[in-house]
Formats: sequence, C-alpha cells, structure tokens
Amino acid sequence: MLPAPFDYQRPTSLAEAISLLAQNEDAKVLAGGHSLIPAMKLRLAQPNTIVDIGRIAELSYIREQDGKIAIGAMTTHFEIESSALLRERCPLLPEVARQIGDAQVRNKGTLGGSLVHADPAADWPAAVLALDAEFDVAGPKGRRVVRSADFFVEMMQSAVQQNEILCEIRLPLTPKSVAYVKFAQKASGFAIAGVAALVDKRNKTVAVGITGIAPKAYRARAVEHALRGKGLTREAAKVIEEVEPLNDIHASAEFRAHLAQVNCRRALELALSRG
Ligand SMILES: Cc1cc2nc3c(=O)[nH]c(=O)nc-3n(C[C@H](O)[C@H](O)[C@H](O)COP(=O)(O)OP(=O)(O)OC[C@H]3O[C@@H](n4cnc5c(N)ncnc54)[C@H](O)[C@@H]3O)c2cc1C
Repeated sequence: MLPAPFDYQRPTSLAEAISLLAQNEDAKVLAGGHSLIPAMKLRLAQPNTIVDIGRIAELSYIREQDGKIAIGAMTTHFEIESSALLRERCPLLPEVARQIGDAQVRNKGTLGGSLVHADPAADWPAAVLALDAEFDVAGPKGRRVVRSADFFVEMMQSAVQQNEILCEIRLPLTPKSVAYVKFAQKASGFAIAGVAALVDKRNKTVAVGITGIAPKAYRARAVEHALRGKGLTREAAKVIEEVEPLNDIHASAEFRAHLAQVNCRRALELALSRG
C-alpha cells in the first residue's frame, strides 16, 4: 500500500526543524524511516508533513565528553556497532547494535528513532535502561533532560512530544562486564525476550534492562534487589515479577516468561565472565 499524500521538508539545522514542527501539529519527524515509513504504508501513521532530520549534521556523533558517552540521536545502529570508542568505553552498545535486524536496517535505522518509537520489542530500550541513560530533548521552549526511568511511557509512546526532537543520548562509561542476550523473532530480528545486564563486580550490584516481554521495556528491580551483594545468577526467576508478560502471535505469555528467566540468567553469567 502507498502512504497517504504528505508534504516533505528537509531542514538543515535543529532550530529550523523545531520551527517546522511548531507550525504544524500533524507534522512528524523522519529519521532512518525504518519504522515510520512502514507505518505510513500501512496507513497506521498519516502525517500531513514529514520533517526529514537526516541532513542535520549536529545530530550525528559519538564522543566521550565530561566523563560520559554522548551520542547524537541520528547516529545509526551500524555506526554504534562499528565504534572503537564504544567497544572500549561502553561495550554494551556495540553488542546490542550488532543484533538489530539486518545490515540494511542497521545502516539506515538510528538510535534516536528507535528510542522515540518505543516499540516494546526493540533492542535499545533494554540497554538504555540498564545503563541509566539520560536524554536531551529540544522543543519550542528550549531543551530539557529526561531520565531513562521516565522515557518509556507506554507501548509505542516515549516522553518525546510531537513538537520535540530527541537530540542526544548520554550514557556512563562502563566496565567490560556487560552482556545483551535476546531470543529474536526469526523474520525481523525484533526481541521476544531481550535482556541487557551490567554487573558491577566491585560493589556487587547488577542492573538489568528487559525488552520484548511487557508493553514497555523495564528495569528488573526485583532481580537487582535480590542479587545485591550476593552470588549473581540464582534470582533470575524474579525477572517477570513486576510485569504481566505479553501474549501475542509471536509468543505466549508463558513462553515469554520462560525466555525472560533463561535470558536473564544467561546475560548475568555472560556479564560476570567478562571484564
Ligand atoms: C525489517 C526490519 C527489521 C527490524 N529489526 C529490528 C530489530 O531486530 N531490533 C530493533 O530494535 N529494531 C528493529 N527494527 C527497527 C529499526 O531499528 C528502526 O530503525 C527503528 O525502530 C526506528 O529508527 P529510524 O531511525 O528508522 O526511525 P524512523 O522510522 O524514521 O522514526 C520512528 C519514529 O520516531 C520518530 N523520531 C525519529 N527520530 C526522532 C528524533 N530524533 N526526535 C523525535 N522523534 C523522532 C519519528 O517521528 C517516528 O515516529 C527493524 C526494522 C525493520 C524494517
């Protein structure tokens, strides 16, 4: 099916893009287009104007800054997968990126687009939650910072409003003791159960982000609390304590609950064996 007719705008600066969004409440941002364009073809999305942010150079970078990693929202999955800086300083990100979709998806799809889209089966939400990322969002009233705990609002809805643009994602420098384990839907690669784990060996704490299981990605706090200061893998069964697993054409709730527990244990063991 073809998308409904729309106007196309291609701003070259962030300020211009925000002004275009402010002029039209039916306008939508286009990043890599790998979620928005399929939705438009199915007429699930019918924006009357597309604001293509693909030519805004100030939204695409990976750098170490003030003791953190800063990534522009238009950075592609492939750029993250192939970043030597990230392999060294925040290795969970390349590990997640290389498990996304296929080469074409990774070449066009962006970190910012995936996060704003807030698909409950997307990979990035598990990682940004486990890493306690923060998000720089720009809108007509200026910039604001959103913490990862507040970013995913519900299924397919993030904290970024229609007239705002996600600009930057900031993450901590981490040790190598991280892992991402997913059971993927075979055709698309989307997660039926994805677990991102960060093990802090010195303080004996873990951070666990989960995707694919519930209507939105979440931190497995029950697992984290149960494991604080202890041997690390026994408490993975608590991974679904805080949520009602989804039941859909890809997997039953019971199968998802099982996968979440297995992948949680595997991610923790893998992270523990590294670094
Ligand atoms: C065949 C296929 C397989 C896939 N497999 C996987 C997979 O295994 N794992 C996975 O996680 N994902 C997968 N994806 C999704 C892919 O990662 C997309 O790239 C991603 O979800 C959206 O990123 P995008 O840059 O293409 O965003 P777009 O499609 O351009 O935009 C998505 C949404 O975000 C909004 N938006 C985009 N950028 C911004 C911004 N900076 N500020 C404000 N709003 C913004 C848009 O308005 C739109 O609503 C797959 C997609 C396809 C087509």
